[in-house]
Amino acid sequence: MNSDFFLGIDVGGTDIKLGLVDDRGNVHFKHQTPTRPLGCPDAVFEYAIRYANETLLNHELPADMLRGVGVAVPGVLDTRAGVLREVVNLPGWLGVSLIKHLAAITKLPTQLINDANAAAYAEHVIRSLGDGSLALLTLGTGIGGGLVLSGRPHGGDHGCAGELGHITIDFSDTAIPCTCGSRGHLESYAGAPAVLSNLQRRLRALPVESISPELLSPDVTTRDIATHAEKGCQVCVDVMMETACHVGKAIGMLGQVCNPEVVILGGAMTFGGEATATGRMFLDAVRESVKRTTLVQVGGNMDIQFASLGNDAGVCGAGMIARHRSSRSAR
Ligand SMILES: [Zn+2]
Repeated sequence: MNSDFFLGIDVGGTDIKLGLVDDRGNVHFKHQTPTRPLGCPDAVFEYAIRYANETLLNHELPADMLRGVGVAVPGVLDTRAGVLREVVNLPGWLGVSLIKHLAAITKLPTQLINDANAAAYAEHVIRSLGDGSLALLTLGTGIGGGLVLSGRPHGGDHGCAGELGHITIDFSDTAIPCTCGSRGHLESYAGAPAVLSNLQRRLRALPVESISPELLSPDVTTRDIATHAEKGCQVCVDVMMETACHVGKAIGMLGQVCNPEVVILGGAMTFGGEATATGRMFLDAVRESVKRTTLVQVGGNMDIQFASLGNDAGVCGAGMIARHRSSRSAR
């Protein structure tokens, strides 16, 4: 190994993920540990830098291969101040000057980034998009997102850029309330609970004996919808296509504002993703919905794909943003 390394730290409410990221975005020496026993930011940063230094030592690699540290955090991040303004499940992290603590503990060039923007940046780096733009939507219980504009992660002036789940797609008086307190947002139409409500509503119109017991179970998931759609269940196909239509509308709006070259769909709710015919049908329906709602130059040129990086995206993006910072400060 002759590359520099950048320590990527992906902080979640449940687990901390670590890895040494090389110049090309490959993640080496991955490690995961529960967040709760470490708790506060200082303990996490001390644990992470100790892990990185011991890993280099154990592999007989020189300590100065480690050139920087990047940390991905959930919630609303004020990147200028290096402070989390809002976060769920990490109470000890709120309002702390994370960037100061990180620099003091690691004594290396440091960078903070929102976790969704880290994932978006990682997808951008592995595609070698250079100065191009990319948007990432994470589809799951909630709908999150990250933006990389002209090659740089874009958090916005108040840390809320890329909150694509809260794009309004229904402006009517009967628009569905969103978890954020507003109405008509993408998340309230295409987040997993909304997709399951849509399924229940459609099933109520059918004779009960015609419905698979799995779909009537209170434990039914969007994965079951994908499985049954794959087997030809029309209701599940319809639910999936309606979801794709909603997602496409939001991407279309984003497209008219930012005109990104690439849009990536990630998260747990991709209806099987690239590996299944159902997942690919979902993706095609999203693409069609985008084309219907945008200028031909926008929708026609936008490359919409499923995410390539799974669990490593946050660590990779955190490491790569540290590399970006380190290369700037070296100039
Ligand atoms: Zn909302």
